[in-house]
Amino acid sequence: MSDATALSGLEHVRGEIARACRDAGRAVGDVELVAVSKTFPAEAIPPVIAAGQRVFGENRVQEAKGKWPALTAATAGIKLHLIGPLQSNKAKEAVALFDAIHSVDRASLCDALSKEIQKQGRSPVLFAQINTGAEPQKAGVLPEEADAFLAACRDNYGLTMAGLMCIPPAEEAPGPHFALTAKIAKRNGLQLLSMGMSADFADAIALGATHVRVGSAIFGGRH
Ligand SMILES: *Cc1c(COP(=O)(O)O)cnc(C)c1O
Repeated sequence: MSDATALSGLEHVRGEIARACRDAGRAVGDVELVAVSKTFPAEAIPPVIAAGQRVFGENRVQEAKGKWPALTAATAGIKLHLIGPLQSNKAKEAVALFDAIHSVDRASLCDALSKEIQKQGRSPVLFAQINTGAEPQKAGVLPEEADAFLAACRDNYGLTMAGLMCIPPAEEAPGPHFALTAKIAKRNGLQLLSMGMSADFADAIALGATHVRVGSAIFGGRH
């Protein structure tokens, strides 16, 4: 993947986000593009930063720790989002490194995050991941357990949840999964919706996404 390809990918995605916002009657500023740089080497990222992108997604704590500290030191205002599953024993590193965590999905993780947030005095923006397709191999809270989970985050762990995240099943139309996630967020008073990837971010914007997580449409295919 050349720098030029990443830049034309970024331009294209920005244009499609603007178009989807117009079509949905939403302001372009309502939707944050999280550029997913997972699996790409650190060298692939500076051209995208130079083009003005500041919000990036990674799915592994270890990989992000290796790639990002030098990049965030070089440019002010970079925001890192953890979009992949988080083990409780990595909560300390995750709270130190990330500005948002999209994958909060179980009590033991809430407990670990809550302790680290207090200890470090850092408060990443938290999303609960909903397993809308009830897929056994996928992380996330089942839709029917979401309300109780969100109440427990607040009441048992003192966590302020900001929104919900979902990853629809690959083989299904994503729309109903986005709509279900939006419905659960609305009835729980949550403002943020992390939904939509390279193939379906326009659909997600139509259904209320505030954060779209786009990797391959910017950086190219992953191996
Ligand atoms: C990899 C990944 C993305 C980006 O996927 P693309 O199809 O490359 O845009 C988004 N969300 C999560 C949780 C991911 O793991």
